Amino acid sequence: MSLPRVGLCENTYDSLRARYLKLRNVDPSVNNPSSWLALAADLEHFVREHSGDKMTPSLMYDASIVSEILYTKTQEPRYLKEAITYLDTLSKKYTESEVAPEALVRLGDLHLYLEKNTEGATGAYQQVVETYADSEMSTVAKQRLQEIHKSASNQENQKTTRLDKADNENFLIVLDPGHGGEDHGAKGVGGLYEKDVTLAVALLLEKYFRDEPGVSVRLTRRADSFVPLQSRSQMANQEEADLFVSLHVNASEKKNSSGYEVYYLDNTRDVSSKRLADRENASMNYEGGGSDLMFMLSDLITTAQVNESIPFARHFYDTSLHSMKSKSLGVRGRGVKKAPLYVLVGTTMPSILVEMLFVDSTLDGKKLASEEFRQKLAESLFDGLKSYVLKSEPEVLRAQR
Ligand SMILES: [Zn+2]
Repeated sequence: MSLPRVGLCENTYDSLRARYLKLRNVDPSVNNPSSWLALAADLEHFVREHSGDKMTPSLMYDASIVSEILYTKTQEPRYLKEAITYLDTLSKKYTESEVAPEALVRLGDLHLYLEKNTEGATGAYQQVVETYADSEMSTVAKQRLQEIHKSASNQENQKTTRLDKADNENFLIVLDPGHGGEDHGAKGVGGLYEKDVTLAVALLLEKYFRDEPGVSVRLTRRADSFVPLQSRSQMANQEEADLFVSLHVNASEKKNSSGYEVYYLDNTRDVSSKRLADRENASMNYEGGGSDLMFMLSDLITTAQVNESIPFARHFYDTSLHSMKSKSLGVRGRGVKKAPLYVLVGTTMPSILVEMLFVDSTLDGKKLASEEFRQKLAESLFDGLKSYVLKSEPEVLRAQR
């Protein structure tokens, strides 16, 4: 694939590592596949020629991520196989390497999330727990094993639920009122908390959908209680939801920001989107430990569902904003954006996070405190969701009219 090289490898560990990091930053969505393929070839070459080098295991780890990125982009099974082979070889051949435990967890993740191979995943996670009991990754591996265990018992429990679902064939939307309990979220004008606004709007939406044949709604929380971010997306997966919508209100250091945004999960270079992700991901501070690491591990893996989430985000944004305009709510559209939002990681259905206005600005904050405004806002979100359901599953709604 690459041109024959004269002399020895001019690719040193440092130069390859630098290329890899740069490419991940400048082209995370692989708009320029040839650079990625060239890097993959050079990494492969280095690993083959320098099997005794102490830096080789970490380049193998990088090479596996490059293959995984190529797989996510192209869906070509050979790249997934390559990624798995790198990690598998690394964990067998370089057992003493620092990156070995991490490689095993990642190997498990590839088996679990991309191959749906629970047995392979269990083997990899168990090996971390047994061989690297003192490593940080052992905690992660234990969590993954619990996840597998839980989902197996849920599948048993859900056999009946699934029959119910097949009975009425409802389109299921899981609504996630952001924050809750000790996690207040953003604090707004007049002491208004984000967690209260998000719950109020979610309950209104649930009410509106009650009269909508063919669509069911479930909430990740119905009270002022703390729910870990991961449990929220897991609930959507376990319920086999068709859509996952996390509801939030925005805040800004610049006072008097205003408007409405819809996010989907992806890496971004945009500073304000990154800042937003930091703020929303801070809910993890109430969960204690491990999650940051898991997010880093999962961020690339789960980009497979991003493809479906983008058209959902765009359609929902356009139709809900149109509805807000027709109600003269005076809401400024700030667009569809992407950010590495932990609550959207790992969902298996189109998933978005909605930032409904700025709770800490005088203008938006006053609106959000008004019951009448919240009702109209919820009506517009309802219009947006209904329009998407109708577009993607027309028979669900039309058949019942
Ligand atoms: Zn929030």
